Amino acid sequence: MAKIINLKKDVLTVQAERHKSAAPIKYYVDENDCHICISHALDKDGYPRVYVGKDRRMSHYIYYLQTGEWPPKGMVVMHTCDNPQCINPDHLKLGTQKENMADMKAKGRAKLNSPKKRFTDDEILYIRYFNKETTRALAIKYGVIENTIRNIRKNRSYKDITIDSVARNKIVV
Ligand SMILES: [Zn+2]
Repeated sequence: MAKIINLKKDVLTVQAERHKSAAPIKYYVDENDCHICISHALDKDGYPRVYVGKDRRMSHYIYYLQTGEWPPKGMVVMHTCDNPQCINPDHLKLGTQKENMADMKAKGRAKLNSPKKRFTDDEILYIRYFNKETTRALAIKYGVIENTIRNIRKNRSYKDITIDSVARNKIVV
């Protein structure tokens, strides 16, 4: 149904055959096997949007490509990985609004207990390029050890996140 072709080493694209006129969906695969969409604009909640006849959430479109049906009214497409920018079909599942709320609540709790901080692309760019704060100040701000900040600044972690890769998110189709 959806064709996956290798575009670059780390950026893949899905071209839906049913919506040939739609802009190609490009993403890279991160260390959690999340497919991070970098070709489409994000809404205020961080979900990529796609225009296919009308403006839709990309996750709903991916669900449509997989199943041939749009999510039924009252149902939502949930991210098992908790990353709104992810479009890996394996990380998406259909649920009710109620299930989604329960899921978010449980994940919120898990996050509080988790020592591993997950940075957003914007945070990575902020840490790496756009500020004059000390490593220590940033470590305190984000609740991580200084080495985590140092690794980001020296490009030892989050190498995929560059000004270029994030800028492509701003493209409106
Ligand atoms: Zn994911």
